[in-house]
Amino acid sequence: MKIAKNTVVTVHYKLSDAQGNLIEESRDPMVYLHGGYENTLPKIEEALEGRDVGFETTIQVEPDDAFGEYDPNLIKIEPRNRLPEPVEIGMQFEGTPDDAEGADDSIIFTVTDIADDQVVLDGNHPLAGMALRFTLNVAGVRSATDEEVAHQHVHGADGHHHHHQQDGTEGEDGDHFRSYPLH
Ligand SMILES: [Zn+2]
Repeated sequence: MKIAKNTVVTVHYKLSDAQGNLIEESRDPMVYLHGGYENTLPKIEEALEGRDVGFETTIQVEPDDAFGEYDPNLIKIEPRNRLPEPVEIGMQFEGTPDDAEGADDSIIFTVTDIADDQVVLDGNHPLAGMALRFTLNVAGVRSATDEEVAHQHVHGADGHHHHHQQDGTEGEDGDHFRSYPLH
């Protein structure tokens, strides 16, 4: 079966930077609903459109088509006492950028540096500003169910979960290229 709109694609991937340094290699494949549902990067869908099981390719995706350019305005320096203790580099908090219009603009900040009484928070995606190289290997293609198409994501594959919230809305799916809520 060829990859087309409303197929569920299982793909092994290897992610490197533009110099070929490995960032991540999939242990579990990514499983996503194909067809512009923002389950994965559009450039990945483009590369796989019309392909079949066994297809392998390597694509390079520029920051604009991945996680955006690095934005120095998303760096915040906060007094340490405004954050919960203990604070460690790599911890993540949800917050609003200084130029946010409202609470809807909240983003994830990562602690990137800690000084005596100040903490540096970076609101950029960890892969922002990077050209990324994906090696993709298609391991499976099937038709999506009507329910999957209605929900715009894949259901019940290999142990990845997300929860539909009580009010029936979807949780935040995140912005990772392999964001693929399954439940
Ligand atoms: Zn669902």
